[in-house]
Amino acid sequence: QKARTADLDAETLWRQDRDHFIHPFTDFSQFHDKGCEMITDSDGIYVEDVHGNRFIDGIAGLWCVNVGHGRREIAQAMADQASRMAYFSTFNNLSNAPASQLAAKLAELAPAHLNHVFYTCGGSTANDATIRLVHYYFNRLGKPNKKRILSRRNAYHGTTYLAASLTGIESNNWSFDTLSELVTHLSEANLYRRPEGMSESEYCDHLVNELEAHIAKIGADNIAAFIAEPIMGAGGVLMAPRGYHKRIQAVCRANDILYIADEVVTGFGRLGHFFASEAVFETQPDIINIAKGLSSGYSPLGASLISDELYAVLGTPQCKGGVLSTGFTYSGHPVSCAAALKNIEIMEREDICANVREVGPYLEQSLKSLSHHTTVGDVRGSNFMMCLENVADKATGELLPVEARVGDRVAEEAQKRGLIIRPVGHLNVISPTLIWSRETVDTAVTILDEALSATT
Ligand code: PLP
Repeated sequence: QKARTADLDAETLWRQDRDHFIHPFTDFSQFHDKGCEMITDSDGIYVEDVHGNRFIDGIAGLWCVNVGHGRREIAQAMADQASRMAYFSTFNNLSNAPASQLAAKLAELAPAHLNHVFYTCGGSTANDATIRLVHYYFNRLGKPNKKRILSRRNAYHGTTYLAASLTGIESNNWSFDTLSELVTHLSEANLYRRPEGMSESEYCDHLVNELEAHIAKIGADNIAAFIAEPIMGAGGVLMAPRGYHKRIQAVCRANDILYIADEVVTGFGRLGHFFASEAVFETQPDIINIAKGLSSGYSPLGASLISDELYAVLGTPQCKGGVLSTGFTYSGHPVSCAAALKNIEIMEREDICANVREVGPYLEQSLKSLSHHTTVGDVRGSNFMMCLENVADKATGELLPVEARVGDRVAEEAQKRGLIIRPVGHLNVISPTLIWSRETVDTAVTILDEALSATT
């Protein structure tokens, strides 16, 4: 039986939360005064708080509830699996049915050369595990110097020690340490804030040249991989110039540098395809990392999809003499894999990717109509991955002072009117469940319009 809002006491919950729950990514200088928004119920495109207020979920939980909330079928598949066999090891030769079935399904959906699945607990652990596998791969090939990883400023790849080191958002690592000797951060690909006077294609040349210069300086023999989100998410929905990923991959390939696509956000339908790398960006990554939409957030799960070429070294009988000693207790967790299988079944049955391809451009175009607001400097993104950049001066892109809290204020005004969007500094991210209709877009954009008017 689903817990009802009436069963929960808001005051008690807040006390328990405040006194004992260390929230991730939370400003504790404000947390105790502000309180928290306790989300207790959900259904379809909506979530509800402990007071019974209902909101349109404009962030899909955290870019993850792709098929929408309250899918009883997924809950049932998880319950059935948990009752039958909730957990057993997948180490050594042990396995379970949902993990095997899901691996085969992912191989079928993924680009043709990616047929091997390494399960993790989420996105950070997928990126972390990948770097270890890449190092292992080059060690086995007798190239132990190939260690350095190229990432980008403002990239977000998670918060395990290694994933946080790949992450290039400075404020995320404030007062934390990172493995800086392992990772080199190149420039972000940010079409909106490209150097003045550069055309899109000149900007692309500029970024490719920068990569080549770094390879020349560090030496290809010392570089293992390049990792990138097809569209940078948490860094601000940053769009690369046309052709960028394809050209970067070509440079990597020419230098024996592996290309890793972090599709934790862009995968599983957000850009209208199960995987964006090949379908949208015309790249063939050596590894694609996924999480979030893989199970639509119903249960924690991540995975690295590994190419046949890498697998030939990592996992074949020809590679004698060693155990691949990496993995997690919950690698291939049966309940999470059962959730993911049902999630994929729903995505296919309802053709959710087609809904994104149909409604996504409408969302983009409708959000662009908000550009008339004096603070909206840029409206960008693609399909169901969108962002408003708030500025002080539209002509120069100059930012408002941090104290203006413009992203927070727009989000607060939107929430008062029944829509949850995400403030990220001076930005507002809109990354809905993938089941929004055109009517939902109209409602959300009307709310945003009012929220922006109330803020400026
Ligand atoms: N990679 C990307 C692109 C992400 O956006 C995120 C999370 O937002 C992660 C990795 C980390 O995933 P997780 O929080 O599941 O560890």
